[in-house]
Amino acid sequence: MAYTLGLIGYPVSHSLSPRIHTAALRARGLEGSYAAIPVSPDLLPATLRALVANGYNGLNVTIPYKQAVMPLMDELSDDARAIGAVNTIIVANGRLCGHNTDGVGFLLALAEAGFDPHAQNVLVLGAGGAARAVVYSLNQAGARITVWNRTEQRAVELAREFRVRSAAALAADLTGTWDLIVNTTSAGMFPNGDIFPVRLASDGLSARCVYDLVYNPRETMLLRQARAVGALVIGGIAMLVYQAAEAFRLWTGCEPPVPAMLQALADG
Ligand code: NAP
Repeated sequence: MAYTLGLIGYPVSHSLSPRIHTAALRARGLEGSYAAIPVSPDLLPATLRALVANGYNGLNVTIPYKQAVMPLMDELSDDARAIGAVNTIIVANGRLCGHNTDGVGFLLALAEAGFDPHAQNVLVLGAGGAARAVVYSLNQAGARITVWNRTEQRAVELAREFRVRSAAALAADLTGTWDLIVNTTSAGMFPNGDIFPVRLASDGLSARCVYDLVYNPRETMLLRQARAVGALVIGGIAMLVYQAAEAFRLWTGCEPPVPAMLQALADG
């Protein structure tokens, strides 16, 4: 069978997913292709129908459509429903089944780094789409979670939905030592690498492990600060590859070739 795979989002030209999935197909000796497909917002439902008609059997979904595609699915996995977002679609017999592999990808990268979140005090920065996957999976793993967000109301709402704590103000609630700090905000991302809402050490904030979901640049300002104070650091590339690996498993039923997927990014 040939796999016709792709990514929908807007924009998608920066995406690393074509490289990762093309390498995975090759490494497993599977026939197929993976295309980055920019979709303008008014054309989302029509484009999905056209991709199904053109024989696509698997799709990834990225910003800004992870929530917008949900009502367009025929079925949703439990993870996608609980997280409230879809990043992977399986197309079978003309039906669309929405999954979410961001949460499992996040946890696999944490496990690879040797960090067990069970009963650990975790500070999650951000309350957007990525934060939902992170809070959901950390909750499943038994972590004690506090959510902080620049727009406080969004943190309060997310914390209420997932039954975790929200932190009101940096100075009052966040100082002290955390077992793990996870940045799920887009602060620190290229081209705004020097913008970040907190400073480790000088804001009285420290952590045993710091995990930044941002992968461009690979070493963010937050990770540089964390490294300087001796914390275990995890960058966003590992989660990017593991969420892709789980999508590959869903589409093909094959064990994902993770080393080849990582190598595809190391090759430049
Ligand atoms: P999103 O839904 O747009 O949410 C963005 C979040 O960032 C919001 O909480 C927003 O706060 C916050 N934010 C933006 N600029 C900020 C600033 N200057 N200071 C403080 N907070 C700021 O985006 P998303 O889908 O959650 O993605 C967030 C990041 O995660 C992106 O960098 C994305 O590339 C990364 N990501 C990585 C992976 C991976 O596999 N490594 C997977 C998914 C996402 P407000 O609510 O106040 O606006």
